[in-house]
Amino acid sequence: MAELKLTMTIDGVPATVGAFLEVRNPATGAVIAAVPDAGEAELNAAVAAAREAFIAWRHTSWGERAAIVSRIGDTIGQNAAELSAMLTREQGKPADQAMTEIMTAAHWLRSTATLTLPDRETETAPGRKHITRYVPIGVVAAISPWNFPVALSAFKIAPALLAGNTMVLKPSPFTPMTVLRIGELVRDFVPAGVLNIISGGDALGPMMTAHPGVDKISFTGSTATGKRVMAAAALGLKRLTLELGGNDAAIIMPDVPIEETAQKVFRSAFVNSGQVCIATKRAYVHEAIYDEFRDALARLVVSAKVGDGSEPGITHGPIQNRLQFGRVNDIVADCEAHGFAMIRGEATAGTGYFLPLTLVDNPPPESRIVKEEQFGPILPLIRFSDVDEVIAWANDSDMGLAGTIWSRNIDAALKLADRMETGNVWINEALALSPYAAFAGHKQSGLGVESGIEGLMAYTEPKTIFVSQ
Ligand code: NAD
Repeated sequence: MAELKLTMTIDGVPATVGAFLEVRNPATGAVIAAVPDAGEAELNAAVAAAREAFIAWRHTSWGERAAIVSRIGDTIGQNAAELSAMLTREQGKPADQAMTEIMTAAHWLRSTATLTLPDRETETAPGRKHITRYVPIGVVAAISPWNFPVALSAFKIAPALLAGNTMVLKPSPFTPMTVLRIGELVRDFVPAGVLNIISGGDALGPMMTAHPGVDKISFTGSTATGKRVMAAAALGLKRLTLELGGNDAAIIMPDVPIEETAQKVFRSAFVNSGQVCIATKRAYVHEAIYDEFRDALARLVVSAKVGDGSEPGITHGPIQNRLQFGRVNDIVADCEAHGFAMIRGEATAGTGYFLPLTLVDNPPPESRIVKEEQFGPILPLIRFSDVDEVIAWANDSDMGLAGTIWSRNIDAALKLADRMETGNVWINEALALSPYAAFAGHKQSGLGVESGIEGLMAYTEPKTIFVSQ
């Protein structure tokens, strides 16, 4: 198949450059596209276009901006078949899950467009009042990762544009295609310069975060990179939102329905082959049900169909890239070297980055598979007997993204949720996000908030006008 050529969107028109990056299908290793490898000149052009567009965009009405944001969502929805097929080819996830991601992005844009940030007025004394307005920040540099390239980009585009900012967006070099394609589809109705989408290699992200024309950085990716981004932001005192890694614990109490809960925990740990920031990455199972629960999970693990996500019947795709494949294999090798008991499913023997789904049976709390973010299809199950002990284990982490509690006793589960040191806790469900709910990582899982009113406010600065008559 001929390589697909996609263009960047700078100042509302197609942009390309002499150098290209190859994009590979992680299920086959085949090169499927060549995308522009932008350098300093293209970044400067994109930032200049965004700065110029900001002058008018910030003063368009909220309603006009909401209409454009919503229309981006509509356009993504109308082109979902093409976009989801492209997403499977570049990211690897099975077709139905790629469709879910595309429709989530469309929903996010449309729903966020219904939010408003009215002025707040306070009367301090007769004849005196304060009016606090939420004004846009300026040019946002948005940087997204490769696990949910479209949804995580939409989470940034929607609030940033709605609040009156303009944007330069860079998807991961591993998964640039679908986001570039969205740029091509919306450039005829998004005012020129408001949403610039550029692609490039490893040098481009640091250039963006250091760029003097950028006012805010919105970054989703690993904690290690997030720290570099924060250091770069400090130089220009740029506003910053960081959505980073997680090592989410699930606590499974002895009163749960075992089969049903095992299915839900299985999904929360292994969907997208475990490459989810909020995936369950450690499952603490009460000793009273440990064996039965492990066996129920094991049946699901061995019946999973790992392979090329574009083929029918495949439930789990490949690891997205060679680097991550190496990292996960390294953790598997560590478990083997320590002699931990493992239950492994099967994976297609092919040229892709396929790994069988794997359970690790009660490794010690200090092992790498428990302490590190695996970001792959391998889940440790840890036996616990005491609630205080399990909460201490769950909180013994530098990460604080999310956690899940599985119990029929909602009052007890709510008390446990209060004790979890994470920005998000689910009770009897997992992975459920909402455009109307704040999503924040505590500890080293992030800084600031995405989504909901708080996420929208993060793309504004309060400005107070003090009026005296
Ligand atoms: P990564 O940090 O390697 O890369 C993320 C993005 O940053 C890419 O676009 C990359 O090109 C860019 N980048 C790399 N170095 C940079 C630098 N020095 N300056 C600026 N940009 C730079 O992350 P990844 O491997 O793509 O994603 C996986 C990680 O992301 C996992 O840790 C996962 O938990 C986390 N994640 C977090 C969330 C969340 O909402 N909290 C969501 C998804 C993924």
